[in-house]
Amino acid sequence: MQISEMSSYIGRFAPSPSGPLHFGSLVTAIASYLQARCKKGKWLLRIENIDPLREKKKASEKIIRTIESYGFEWDGSVYYQSTNQQAHKEALNLLINKSLAYPCRCSRKDLANSKMGPLGAIYPGTCRNLKNSTKNAYRLLTNDTNIEFVDKLQGCYSQQLESESGDFIILRRDGLIAYNLAVVVDDENQGITEIVRGFDLLSSTPRQIWIQKLLNYNTPNYMHVPIITSENGIKLSKLSGAAGISQDYISETIFSALKILHQDPPK
Ligand code: GLU
Repeated sequence: MQISEMSSYIGRFAPSPSGPLHFGSLVTAIASYLQARCKKGKWLLRIENIDPLREKKKASEKIIRTIESYGFEWDGSVYYQSTNQQAHKEALNLLINKSLAYPCRCSRKDLANSKMGPLGAIYPGTCRNLKNSTKNAYRLLTNDTNIEFVDKLQGCYSQQLESESGDFIILRRDGLIAYNLAVVVDDENQGITEIVRGFDLLSSTPRQIWIQKLLNYNTPNYMHVPIITSENGIKLSKLSGAAGISQDYISETIFSALKILHQDPPK
């Protein structure tokens, strides 16, 4: 492609290596790939590998090989999230130093009786004024601002974080940076302008936008595409052991994925 034809669109696909690439991830990959290519943009591949407890042996290599064999071409080299851990920590420290995050020693048990909201248990703010505790998780302060954005497929979506989620975890008790913080730092680091991903992450987006605002980052555009459920209505996910996609019926599998995305591929 000629430089003059390139656009400023930078999209990405960001699988976690917690299992093989399943049909639901393929649908997301195709959606983000086609959207990037039809906008003459870039499509980056990021392996979100900062959770060793969930990582499956050789899953990263297998995912990359599968993506390759399905004919996807990504721009630049594969980005491993684990190579950006210093930046994740710097972002965490910035938030702590600005007193926007605080240590929390609540266990799951402590929160068992918390009020439930649409996102699960709403953190009641127990540790907001806790000083100086030892090894802890960290939570990001929220307030009553309404975080609103227009999803390119789902339309207008908003959350009032303080009442709907409460202050949320950005550093886990086991010392790992939480997904919501890591993904925001990496999206910024890679200059991502458009995020096309599964609908299951729609409800995490306001928390991510809140982090972007506090860190003075740009907010990308978002599009959340349908997720695939099994016959019993449960989301296909690597963590729940969904089977990897076939290496034998590649065009048939792509055909089915395109149909799910309401495309009309030629037979
Ligand atoms: N790593 C996440 C997954 O495999 C996707 C994160 C994202 O797209 O923001 O489900």
